[in-house]
Order: sequence, then structure tokens, then C-alpha cells
Amino acid sequence: MSAGAEPARDGAGRSSRGGASSGGRPPATGATSPDGAPWYVDGVRFECTACGKCCVNHGDGFEYVFSTRAERKAIAEHLGISLRAFEARYCEKVAGQWSFGSEGDACIFLEDGKCSIYALRPKQCRTFPFWPELMDSRDTWDRDVASFCPGADQGTLHDFAEIRKRLAEHGG
Ligand code: SF4
Ligand code: SF4
Repeated sequence: MSAGAEPARDGAGRSSRGGASSGGRPPATGATSPDGAPWYVDGVRFECTACGKCCVNHGDGFEYVFSTRAERKAIAEHLGISLRAFEARYCEKVAGQWSFGSEGDACIFLEDGKCSIYALRPKQCRTFPFWPELMDSRDTWDRDVASFCPGADQGTLHDFAEIRKRLAEHGG
């Protein structure tokens, strides 16, 4: 793995196969307030503690780290290798998409609990935990984010507009 980097903070995260699915789970409740607004209409507190837990596969929903070709190319250039060499060495094909490989249960780029490619981490990581499948209800947030992420419901208040902007990056 490469060296040198900033902590895995606001924006780390491994996802389920396909990157945007929580299929198979029971329907979530608490998706909207009584007036029909999303549960996060008043914003959500989140401040990453750089614990690196979301860079480790801890069960359903955190197995893969997907990226675009442009993101992989930028990381490959940073590492001084070709895109093809990067994909062969650091990635694995999952359902037709490249996911970063793992070392044990952790993302291959997690070093000493920190992301070694922090500045170039893919969108999936940059936008965690504001993913459509994690924000669909308060129950989902509690179950799939707050249950393990110490930054959930703490610190900075992210307002509705910011959350919508991050969700839009995922097409949410
Ligand atoms: S690329 Fe970095 S931020 Fe993303 S899962 Fe891997 S170690 Fe974590
Ligand atoms: S689990 Fe939460 S607090 Fe820990 S690195 Fe990931 S986003 Fe940050």
C-alpha cells in the first residue's frame, strides 16, 4: 500500500455489492415526518472521528469500495503505475465493477487505521454516510450508521441542502 496520508475521516466507507442497495431488508420506518418531509429535514449531526471502522467489512453493507475509472486512474498516477497495473494489484472485479481489494477485513488502502489515499479516495468514501440507502429513514441510519460509527449524531450539523447535495452525487 502507499504511504503517507491523512486520516480516514468524513467520507470513508465501504458499501454493499452494487454500491446502492440494501435489498433484502424489511421496509424501513421513520422515512418521513408527519408532514411528509424527510426525517433529516432539520439536518443531521455528523463529525468523523477518523476511527476507520467504515473502512472495514463489519457485515452486511460494508464489503466493497467502488470507484470510477477516473478515480482509479488518479490513484494509479499518484502511485506511479499504470491503470491496468493498479487494477491488477489493488482491485478485484465484483459483479462487473472494480472494487478495491482487502487485507483481512479492511480496505487495502487502510494503513494503521488511516486512509493512505485520503485526498484521492473515491466518491463512495467522500460522501459516506450520506448515501441514499443509508438516509432513507431514521431507522436505517440508526441501524446501518449510528450502530458502529462514533461520528453519527455528533458534532457538525449538516443541513438539509447539504445532505440533498451529497445524495444527489449518488443520484439519490
Ligand atoms: S479508500 Fe480509504 S476511505 Fe475508502 S474505504 Fe479504503 S481506506 Fe477507507
Ligand atoms: S466509522 Fe464514522 S467516525 Fe469512523 S472513520 Fe468512518 S465515518 Fe469516520
